[in-house]
Amino acid sequence: MTIPFLDLKAINLAHADDLQAAFRRVLESGWYILGKEVERFEQDFAAYCGARHGIGVANGLDAIMLTLKGYGIQAGDEVIVPSNTFIATWLAVSQCGATPVPVEPIEATFNLDPALVEAALTPRTRAIVAVHLYGQPADMDPLRALADQHGLKLIEDAAQAHGARYKGRRAGSLGHAAAFSFYPGKNLGALGDGGGVTTDDDALDGIVRTYRNYGSQKKYHNLVQGFNSRLDELQAAFLSAKLATLDAGNDARRAIAAVYDRELAGIDGLGLPHVPDWAEPVWHLYVVRHARRDALAARLAEQGIGTIVHYPIAPHLQQAYADLGFKEGDFPIAEAIHREVLSLPIGPTMTPEQAQQVAAAVRAACAGL
Ligand SMILES: *Cc1c(COP(=O)(O)O)cnc(C)c1O
Repeated sequence: MTIPFLDLKAINLAHADDLQAAFRRVLESGWYILGKEVERFEQDFAAYCGARHGIGVANGLDAIMLTLKGYGIQAGDEVIVPSNTFIATWLAVSQCGATPVPVEPIEATFNLDPALVEAALTPRTRAIVAVHLYGQPADMDPLRALADQHGLKLIEDAAQAHGARYKGRRAGSLGHAAAFSFYPGKNLGALGDGGGVTTDDDALDGIVRTYRNYGSQKKYHNLVQGFNSRLDELQAAFLSAKLATLDAGNDARRAIAAVYDRELAGIDGLGLPHVPDWAEPVWHLYVVRHARRDALAARLAEQGIGTIVHYPIAPHLQQAYADLGFKEGDFPIAEAIHREVLSLPIGPTMTPEQAQQVAAAVRAACAGL
């Protein structure tokens, strides 16, 4: 038995005809940067999310960074970020010259704790970046109330949450703006790098469009010191081909998660994901917890089952952030999460039978730990 963590090749081969047609269309158009394919994908993806504007950019990190830049975040500003997230959330803040201010999650949901966010606000706070970690939406209403009360921007890092819903509304329409990644392994993945911003804010739409293209609206007239951060026509065409089946892919992930929920219930020492009743996650990852996580992963590997740790080191303990002066023990919830989490195989081409095999292997492995 071999069950890979994620079978990207199978995922994309399922779209082979549509992807080849998309390639041919772009090849024959003779137009490769900022054209009809990007425009079409921007409009379709924004509509899918329930937002007025969509802007294609080069990757998810830039999507967050350009949104922060667009809101004028700069040196001297503080931005609230989760203490447990992929490093890109923090890097986007740092790249604006601002300071990431980590806040601990609610342990059961892995997402920002609004009560702790309030305690971390200072006169320098300008924005909150809420991550919908593992594909489950953060609790956005209390965060939005805090943002409105204190004049802050609330930005979604929706890189893992294409299609997720919060109280019926889709990720991408829950804050002032949202950032997506179309990295190949995400729920909506390109065949290379890609990213996008969604927003209802007309002014932000114009500013992010300007920043992504050298700071110009009119060619060779530069209004701000911008970036080259554009979504390629080719990747946009691929993404349009795959957007049509995003919901089906998310449904397939839900079916896998349902098998895991059922088959892994009641195992001693194994923590399962908790979903609040207002959340409709899209299961970018199915993350369990175990005090002997590494031993569990090793036993599953022996059986040919691929797992990954998302993520092994909390951002505040990364060498890259040594200058912020944090030490072990500063964010104990995040540290415990990083010590104990393990992501099981999940994806749109995985079958419920495979999920049953994984669950049986997890049960057997846990009994021997
Ligand atoms: C993937 C990811 C990003 C960054 O996206 P890239 O396209 O790889 O730059 C940002 N935040 C989170 C939570 C992610 O999972």
